Amino acid sequence: MTDSQSGVASAGTGHGEIASALAAVREQIAQAARDAGRKPETVTLVAVSKFHPLEAVEAALAAGQRVFGENRVQEAMSKFPQLRERYPDLRLHLIGGLQTNKARDAVRIADMIESLDRAPLSDALLRAADQEGRLPDLLIEVNTGDEPQKFGVPREEADAFIRASVARFGSKLRGLMCIPPAGEDPCPHFRFLTALADEHGLSVRSMGMSADFPQAIAEGATLVRVGTAIFGHRPAGLAGT
Ligand SMILES: *Cc1c(COP(=O)(O)O)cnc(C)c1O
Repeated sequence: MTDSQSGVASAGTGHGEIASALAAVREQIAQAARDAGRKPETVTLVAVSKFHPLEAVEAALAAGQRVFGENRVQEAMSKFPQLRERYPDLRLHLIGGLQTNKARDAVRIADMIESLDRAPLSDALLRAADQEGRLPDLLIEVNTGDEPQKFGVPREEADAFIRASVARFGSKLRGLMCIPPAGEDPCPHFRFLTALADEHGLSVRSMGMSADFPQAIAEGATLVRVGTAIFGHRPAGLAGT
């Protein structure tokens, strides 16, 4: 059975398959929003194109998708700047852990950085914003499972870091992002993130991936980051978040 017969997209997925996978994901988003008593347009789909080639991004653009997520600055730079002329309304989100020495490139190319998680990175972003004359929107990544190997602010430091970041970035600090621990019920993590965003008056909650975006929408997600369900499986060995 080929991948297209099984209905599972895979690496090398063609234009038509990406377009229909996108349509299916959009419909599931709309349904999850309606089920939660929310308007579908309150949820933005971030199409995560990491490890997929430029042609896959082009296929999604042709199908009307405009918001994309990449987790490595280098890869984002190799794909996105060349597309902006043809698609001025394209929006690029950087969703991976960010090294301070990549801050300037990140500030230059991103519309949103979803992974602010420590003071030295805030310092680097402010310096870069000065040099580049622009500052992307920012989300704070919260390590809701307090997993040692993961990026994100630990739970108990989140309050203080959010307050400090609002003071430094003002309205550019738009909200929060999380990646719940694999193999756990993600819903308590989604609820925690929504409550924390509410407490701080932040409107953006980036949560939910291919496996759990309907649940994330039920718990208040305003951005869902979906890769595999649109573009197919990433090459083995590179699939880690
Ligand atoms: C890769 C990645 C995603 C997308 O994951 P899928 O399971 O392929 O939908 C979402 N968020 C982050 C931070 C990622 O790195």
